[in-house]
Amino acid sequence: MRELLRDHTTLRLGGPATAWVRATSEQELVEAMSSIEGPLLVLGGGSNVVVADDGFDGTVVEVATSGVRADIEGEDPTCGGAMVTVAAGESWEDLVAQAVEREWIGVEALSGIPGLVGATPIQNVGAYGQEVAQTIAQVRVWDRVLMGVRTFANADCGFGYRTSRFKADPERHVVLDVTFQFRQGNLGAPVEYAELARTLGVDLGQRAPLADVREAVLELRRSKGMVLDPDDHDTWSAGSFFTNPVVDEAGLPDGAPAWPQEDGRVKTSAAWLIEQAGFHKGYGAGPVGLSTKHTLALTNRGGATTEQLLALAREVRDGVEATHGIRLVNEPVLVGCQL
Ligand SMILES: Cc1cc2nc3c(=O)[nH]c(=O)nc-3n(C[C@H](O)[C@H](O)[C@H](O)COP(=O)(O)OP(=O)(O)OC[C@H]3O[C@@H](n4cnc5c(N)ncnc54)[C@H](O)[C@@H]3O)c2cc1C
Repeated sequence: MRELLRDHTTLRLGGPATAWVRATSEQELVEAMSSIEGPLLVLGGGSNVVVADDGFDGTVVEVATSGVRADIEGEDPTCGGAMVTVAAGESWEDLVAQAVEREWIGVEALSGIPGLVGATPIQNVGAYGQEVAQTIAQVRVWDRVLMGVRTFANADCGFGYRTSRFKADPERHVVLDVTFQFRQGNLGAPVEYAELARTLGVDLGQRAPLADVREAVLELRRSKGMVLDPDDHDTWSAGSFFTNPVVDEAGLPDGAPAWPQEDGRVKTSAAWLIEQAGFHKGYGAGPVGLSTKHTLALTNRGGATTEQLLALAREVRDGVEATHGIRLVNEPVLVGCQL
């Protein structure tokens, strides 16, 4: 029987794959890359993909590799750093829990994000003022064009807001492992996100114990349906469906939040734009709708199809464009379908 993508995605959407390979070692992963002909989809935890109802006419390679290797520098843990190399198939959330436990600083605000380590450099995963680009030292990949292993230092990864050279050049690079460089200590990195600072009772730029930051982030995320829970349909999503648009200041609607960018433009809030365009939490009838806890998440309320989800996404995107003149762009990767 053919494997169904909907059994492997957090949206629980997507039809069958023609073939399926589960790679549990790096060797199996590389062998799959070298031998499979035709279309190929590398799949991690399936938390950032929207797959067509028709499925994927090719081979899905499921990344299921494992291994965490930590090289701790220096005798004094308060001065040394930790170089930690993690296989692509490891769970991101387990890595964050381990980092907090072992007093590795820099990913505590990324608690509760689903998916696997190998996918985190693809869109430079970020939340609550942190992003993986701040702690990634290097990414080791299989290059499907050059047919060999390559290592990209952080500066060569092209990291930006929810993007990287890997996302910009889709299907070329398969992440084998990611090396993080963490400072060590029991206080987290300076808190850069106002809502998190408020929850922790600290000022912006101040630091708080790692475990407190993690708990505060998990609490905030749960209140927004952003921690996976099979019983909560608000979490049957791909996280934020649209990225926050970056626009010229002149094009910013009155009252819209604005975060200045290095290139002189401003980033604004997709959630704000959506709300102001009349789409509120819980919007939508039938099996798809906006999350009742978070405007930016499009959810499967049970029994939905990908086409229904995309129809809602188009309605929201077009409504925002008609109201504000700003066209939202999807964050998840669309497989076999279009917005
Ligand atoms: C409830 C919820 C909350 C979320 N919150 C956030 C958040 O706060 N911040 C955020 O940034 N994201 C968030 N996301 C999105 C998602 O969790 C992340 O993007 C995550 O890193 C995706 O990992 P994955 O293993 O599930 O990737 P998948 O969905 O399996 O794949 C995503 C893309 O990466 C590619 N890919 C996966 N693994 C590899 C690999 N080893 N090599 C090459 N390409 C690969 C796939 O081909 C695909 O194009 C959220 C999602 C959900 C469902």
